[in-house]
This record gives sequence, structure tokens and C-alpha cells, in this order.
Amino acid sequence: MKKFAVFGNPIAHSVSPTIHQMFAKNCGETISYEKVLVPLDDFEQALSSFFSDPMAMGCNVTVPFKQQAFELASDNSSAARAAQAVNTLFKDGSGDIHGYNTDGMGLVRDLIAHGTELKDKRILLIGAGGAARGAIMPLIDESPASIAVFNRTRSKAQEMVDTLSHDRLAVIDKHNLNDFAADIVINSTSASLSNTLPDGVSPQLFTHCELAYDMAYGKSRTVFMGYAQQHGARKQLDGLGMLVEQAAAAFTIWTDKSPDTAPVIQFLRDNV
Ligand code: NDP
Repeated sequence: MKKFAVFGNPIAHSVSPTIHQMFAKNCGETISYEKVLVPLDDFEQALSSFFSDPMAMGCNVTVPFKQQAFELASDNSSAARAAQAVNTLFKDGSGDIHGYNTDGMGLVRDLIAHGTELKDKRILLIGAGGAARGAIMPLIDESPASIAVFNRTRSKAQEMVDTLSHDRLAVIDKHNLNDFAADIVINSTSASLSNTLPDGVSPQLFTHCELAYDMAYGKSRTVFMGYAQQHGARKQLDGLGMLVEQAAAAFTIWTDKSPDTAPVIQFLRDNV
């Protein structure tokens, strides 16, 4: 049986086994997929022990090991190099381990699945952590008019924008935020995980906003989604679809098969 896993710390909350088992059923594959709680200083050893099993084909990697996975892979996809982080590893026939980052692709696929047009749109991306870094190049590939990045710690946004270097990408300061007139506002901060709004968010951000997207997800709508709706955003989405779409992209890397994502998203909405 093909063997897969997700490595992280913490990991108990992960729904990746459920998602991948549903994909496998949908695609006629029989797989095992386990959660591995990795001690903070033991990622390399845990990975090598997993991949020493000939049946181990690939794994997902989550917080806080994505940067380490990037460093350990024999080579990395262009998205992983842009993000400097890997969420998917794949072992090829000769035992080499390849790194990928499917988070940004997951975001874009979810936006498109909800009928969002990205071409020529003004996108405000709030946050400059790993999720933001993974999202930028896949967003740029959709030809938006511009992407402005705002982060609580400005230097981190500047560093990210300088590294990725693109003429449609720039840092925006707090005092210019209200003049940006974003069509799409994406919250890539972890503020929603503590039920707070990202610092710097004000009602004016949503005046022209057709979509407010929060990468976080949970049982109920996030604070950010509620605030965006209250202040004029015409549509609000959470990151559950992104989660399932990034998993589907990983599943395709491992198996060459494209699972149906809609029933999985619906199942998680109803049951998790
Ligand atoms: P990181 O820890 O790498 O980055 C966190 C970011 O959030 C930083 O930019 C940080 O700003 C900012 N931040 C945290 N708290 C606040 C606050 N109160 N106000 C303003 N900014 C704040 O996290 P990730 O990038 O890995 O993850 C970010 C979010 O994206 C999480 O909610 C995570 O669950 C979600 N995510 C969702 C995925 C999906 O598939 N749906 C995939 C990956 C992530 P500063 O630099 O100033 O510290």
C-alpha cells in the first residue's frame, strides 16, 4: 500500500488524513496516511525514517517545518523556491526527495472555483509570513493589476517584496492603505487564529472590495469575514477551500491523479 503522512508540531488538529483518504477513494487508490507529531529538533531524522520505507511515496509538511523541508529536499519547484518553504515532498523512483509548495496554487484554485476574476484586479495582501510568501507568485501568474502587501512588521513585507521582485508587487504603508481601493483583500495573517482582526485593518479597506478572503478557517466565520461584510465587502470566503485545493495539488504530484475537491470541501464544512 502506498504510504503518505503529514509532519508537524502540533499536528492533532490536522484534517489532512481525512482529505487524502477521500481523494484516494475518489481516484481508486488504496493508501495509508498518518499524522506524525515531530519533536521540534527531530524533523530530519523523522523524515529520513519515514522515507526509508519503500512504500513511502510522499508527505505533507506543516508548521514549523516548512523551511527545513525546503532545505532538505534534493531540489525544489519554482513555487517552493519563491516561498522558500515546502509543504509537499515526493520521493521519486531513484529515492530523491523533491520539494513543492502547493499553498499558493490552492489559494488561486479556490478563488477561481468561486468565480473570482483576478486579471487586472487590485489585490491587497495583508501579512508577510509563509502563507503570503507562497501566495504571491501564483497570484501574479493570474495577471492582477497590482498586489500591495501590508504587514504589521513593515520590514518583513519589504524583505519579501524585494526577494520576489516584480513590477506589480509593492509594499504599502499603513497611512496609504485607505487610498488603495482594493478589489480583493486577502488576509494571510494568523490574527484569525486568536479571533482578532489584523492590526491596521479599517472599514475603508472594504469600500470597493468585491471579495474579502481569509486564509484561516474554522467552524464559524472568522472575525475578519464578519468585519469585511459589515463594512461593504460584497463576498467573503474562508481558507477551507484553499486547504483542500492545496492538498489536491499534492495528491496529483504523488499519484498523477486529479481528485474531485468539491465533495471533500462540503464534507469538511459539515463535519469538522
Ligand atoms: P506565519 O507565522 O508565517 O505569519 C504570520 C503573519 O501574521 C505575519 O505576517 C504576522 O505579522 C501576522 N500577524 C499575526 N498576528 C497579527 C495581528 N494581530 N495583526 C496583524 N498581523 C498579524 O504564519 P503563516 O503565514 O504560515 O499562516 C498565516 C495564516 O494562514 C494562518 O491563519 C494559517 O492558518 C493560514 N494558512 C492557511 C492555509 C490554508 O490552506 N487555508 C495554508 C497556510 C496557512 P508580523 O510579521 O508582524 O509578525
